[in-house]
Amino acid sequence: MGNCCRKNCSCLSCVLPCVFKEEKRSGSNSFNGIVIQNPVITTQLDGPQVPPRFVNQGEQQRNSYVALYSYEGRTPDELSFKAGDQMLIIDTTHASWWKAKLLRTRGKAEGYVPFNYVAPVSSIESMPWFFKDIKRSEAERLLVRPGNTTGSFLIRESESQKGEYSLSVFDGIAVKHYRLRKLDDGGFYITSKSKFVSMNELVEYYGKREEGLCCKLLKPCITTGIPLPPDLCYHTADHWEINRNSLKFLKKLGQGQFGEVWEGLWNNTIPVAIKTLKTGTMNPQDFLREAQFMKNLRHPKLIQLQAVCTLEEPVYIITELMRHGSLLSYLQNDNGTSIHIPNQVDMAAQVASGMAYLETQSFIHRDLAARNVLVGENGVYKVADFGLARVFKGEDVYEAKNDTKLPLKWTAPEAIRYNRFTIKSDVWAFGILIFEIVTYGKMPYPGLTGRQALDKLENGYRIPKPFNCPHDLYKIMLECWNAKPEERPTFETLQWKLEDYFETDPSSYLEANNFER
Ligand code: ATP
Repeated sequence: MGNCCRKNCSCLSCVLPCVFKEEKRSGSNSFNGIVIQNPVITTQLDGPQVPPRFVNQGEQQRNSYVALYSYEGRTPDELSFKAGDQMLIIDTTHASWWKAKLLRTRGKAEGYVPFNYVAPVSSIESMPWFFKDIKRSEAERLLVRPGNTTGSFLIRESESQKGEYSLSVFDGIAVKHYRLRKLDDGGFYITSKSKFVSMNELVEYYGKREEGLCCKLLKPCITTGIPLPPDLCYHTADHWEINRNSLKFLKKLGQGQFGEVWEGLWNNTIPVAIKTLKTGTMNPQDFLREAQFMKNLRHPKLIQLQAVCTLEEPVYIITELMRHGSLLSYLQNDNGTSIHIPNQVDMAAQVASGMAYLETQSFIHRDLAARNVLVGENGVYKVADFGLARVFKGEDVYEAKNDTKLPLKWTAPEAIRYNRFTIKSDVWAFGILIFEIVTYGKMPYPGLTGRQALDKLENGYRIPKPFNCPHDLYKIMLECWNAKPEERPTFETLQWKLEDYFETDPSSYLEANNFER
């Protein structure tokens, strides 16, 4: 899953995941003009606090990093730098903002940098073709996107074989996958005929000749955009109660039961989403307690809480802005025009991935539904509003007379009856979310009130298979709706089932001579 599952963890495998790489810059084997020569590949893929391992043990070299993207410092404490700039990391005490010294003289030379904008010089992470822990299905989705051509490729960590790597190449028609085998001395090969001391050397070699691959490795997979820094700025990492005057409200994006959501700017520059909470809907102290925990939940498939304004009402919650709004309206607007089963399975898999992370953190969402999943650029889906239900939604919400707007239809029977909210009641809601996805945002149990649906469910009734829903997907929905919570699958299981949904033959990797195993 690509995260180390520690609470509050911000190690690379947790926080520099596929979504960031997805937005990684394009380039050639040289990176923004810097040709990485004589690379000494480090395979340090874990926590950023641990300095990378280099064969040359010089202190300077050990802490030499390269900027993956350009960054404009947002406060006087921070450094501005350009992609390709080299720097020494001099202090990693803070998990997500590292103190760095730029190896150039112009401008400010020392300050904090967002850790996910830099990588050790010559490390695999600094290579434009390395996409770390993206899945095979995501590699396929990225490589067929416009802008990639025959010979576009990426290298990723293997899903099935931990510590191994896979090469995915677009041959102009389809994406082909090859396993990179590791040599005992740290080298790599695809076919035992040609062995390499480093992955970089392997990439250079196959850039010049096919030698059994479907085509030469011509161009790293292109991506767009740059990742979000881990916080609004270095300062808000620890002081995330911000001055409400630093927010500018630009456009109302939507209205929920508990307030409005606005597109806005922080410090006149940084786009954010601002959720304004109706006065009296919650106790700011309760919210702050919950928000403290939520702020530390970091995953590429979860909406990042960035800051709050709680000193006076209305309370504001500041999160990352998602350009395409809620999944519910996204599905309803499309209504089958361009979204089909492969995209729908991918949406469900991405949500399961975010939920699997919450599962590892023993965190219960309590209000999982398509309205609480947000859609970003390039087919990215993220879970929002996790934990808020506990702060806002008291018993009265569930008991309210007009339940058409209420989450009864998403809530597991044991949660309604006995207030037993667990990760397994989230799994139940996930089954309903899959229903929403395959029906392009239809209301579950049409014609029934939530109470009527509950009565029927307790007599064994389940939503029938929507007409366009593949049998295997419906089977997953039914598993989520098992009457016994403990027999419902975990999100981890749901994630791999959905990610491997189209993977009929797990050994469908090619050998370099195109001979399918
Ligand atoms: P509920 O009140 O039951 O939670 P809801 O989830 O629709 O309902 P909100 O969370 O207040 O209510 O969101 C209202 C709308 O605002 C969403 O449907 C979505 O279109 C938009 N929205 C919310 N958060 C963001 C965000 N981070 N980026 C972009 N749009 C957002």
